[in-house]
Amino acid sequence: MRKVTAIALDIQGRICTGCNNCVVACPVNALELTVANPATKKKTYNVLNGKAVVVNEDVCNGCGICLMVCPQRAITLTTE
Ligand code: SF4
Ligand code: SF4
Repeated sequence: MRKVTAIALDIQGRICTGCNNCVVACPVNALELTVANPATKKKTYNVLNGKAVVVNEDVCNGCGICLMVCPQRAITLTTE
């Protein structure tokens, strides 16, 4: 389905603990906690344990569930 709204998901790597809550909660599997890969086109965010939450914005639908389950309030979502 073609998106009509641009969605930008931002995860603050400085306060993300890598707890994985957002990854588990995402209904469309747009998030992944993995070792950061500079070669990927996906956005990556470093966390303290050396891993990163990766967002596939082609899949993210902007539902906001990940924001609600993040204990660190590390995620912000903007739409244009
Ligand atoms: S906004 Fe919704 S679809 Fe996008 S990453 Fe968060 S939980 Fe997943
Ligand atoms: S829920 Fe928040 S603290 Fe946990 S991995 Fe996701 S962004 Fe990081």
